[in-house]
Amino acid sequence: MYSNGVTHLLIKAGTLVDGNGAQPKKDMAVLVEGSTIVQIDHPERVQIPDGATLETCEFPDATLLPGLVDCHTHTNMPGDGTSVDDVGLESYEIHILQGVKQAKLALESGVTTMRDNGGWHRSVFWLKEGIRRELVAGPRILASGRPITMTGGHCWMMGSVADGVAEVRAAVRELVWEGADFIKVMATGGSTIGSMSERPSYTLEELQAITDEAHRRGRLVGAHTIAQKGIENALDAGVNMLIHCTFVQSDGSIGYDPKVGERIAATDTWVNPTIHVRRGFVDLLEQKRAEEGLTIEEEADLLESVKAVEDRVKVTSQLIKDGAKVIGGSDCGWHVYEFGMFHKELETLVMSGMSHGDALLAGTREAAKALGVSDIVGTLEVGKEADLLLINGDPTENISHLQNVVGVFKSGIRVR
Ligand SMILES: [Zn+2]
Repeated sequence: MYSNGVTHLLIKAGTLVDGNGAQPKKDMAVLVEGSTIVQIDHPERVQIPDGATLETCEFPDATLLPGLVDCHTHTNMPGDGTSVDDVGLESYEIHILQGVKQAKLALESGVTTMRDNGGWHRSVFWLKEGIRRELVAGPRILASGRPITMTGGHCWMMGSVADGVAEVRAAVRELVWEGADFIKVMATGGSTIGSMSERPSYTLEELQAITDEAHRRGRLVGAHTIAQKGIENALDAGVNMLIHCTFVQSDGSIGYDPKVGERIAATDTWVNPTIHVRRGFVDLLEQKRAEEGLTIEEEADLLESVKAVEDRVKVTSQLIKDGAKVIGGSDCGWHVYEFGMFHKELETLVMSGMSHGDALLAGTREAAKALGVSDIVGTLEVGKEADLLLINGDPTENISHLQNVVGVFKSGIRVR
C-alpha cells in the first residue's frame, strides 16, 4: 500500500477528537495498516506488530479528527456565481474538468467523503471512477449523477427529465444501471429559470414511484424541497433526506409549520438545510459595499439575502428544537459557494442553535449515517477507513477551527 515497503503508519497527535461525541483526549496515536485504522491509544500503549515496517508522523500541536463528510456538493459547478442555466451552456468537457478542480479543493480542505447532488450526464460517475483509478485527487464520492426532474423542472438541463410514473421509474433504473449511489429528485422548483420554487413539481404518485423504485434497488433518495407542499409530498413518499427544506409558502414567503416539523422529527428523514449558499452571497456583497460600493440592484439583493438567511436560520433552529435529524451539506459549487469551505455551512448550524460539538458530528458521524456509509467512515474507530484530518484548534469549542488544516489523510495516504 505504501512506498518503500512501509506496512504501517503511526500518526501521533497532541489531541484526538474521535467523532463519537467523547471529550477530546490528549496525546493520542492512531495506527494504520494499509487503509484501515487498527489501533487508537496513547502512543506508548500502541503495539506495533512484529515484522511491521513503520512510518511515523507527529503532530504534537494539532487535533486529529475523522475526515469530514459533506452531504451536498455540485462538482460540475464553479461556485463563482454562475447560474445553473449558464453552466448548462458550457461544454460537457468543461463540466468534467471543473469537477477535477473541485474534488481536489474539497479533499485538501479535509472533506474525505462527499455526496454529489447532481451534475450533467455521466460526468460525476466518471469523476468518481477517475478518483478510484488515482488519475485525479478527490474525496470518496457518492454520486446521484443527474437529478430526476419534470419537464421544465429544476436542473432539467442536466439531462434526466421524466414525467409520469412509468418515466420516473425508468429514470431511476437507468441511473442505477449507470452507477448512481443514490437518487436525487427535484420535488419542487428551484433557482432554474421558470421552475417555480414556491410550488411542488412532481405529484405524490410520481414521488412515491421514484422512492419505491430506488429502495427496491437499494438506493437512498434525497429530495430537493423548497416549497412546504413539496416537503409534505416528499414525507408522504418516504424519501430519506429533505434537502434545503426551506418551508417556502405559496406566496413565496418562508414560514415554519410546526405540524410539518413534528412529522419530520417523528420520521427517520434527514434534513440538510443549506444556509451558507445564501450567506456567502451576503458576505460577498458586504465586502463589495465596503470596498467599492453597491449598485441599487445589489443593495436590493443584499437586503433580500439578509432576510432569506435570517428566515432559513429560524426554520433550521425550529427543526433542531423539534428534534429533526439535521446534518451538514454545503451545496458548494452552487451560486457563490466555493469548494473547500465546508466549515462555513457547519457555522450556520451553530447559528441555528447547535452546539459546536454537535455541528462537528453533523459534518462527520451523522452525515456518514445519512449517506449510509457509517460502517466505513465518519468516526475514528478501529476497523474504519483511515480518513483523518489534522487541524490547529478544537472544533468542539469553535467549529470555525476546521479551516486551520494541518494535514489530511484519505484511506491512510497523506494527501495534504
Ligand atoms: Zn444543491
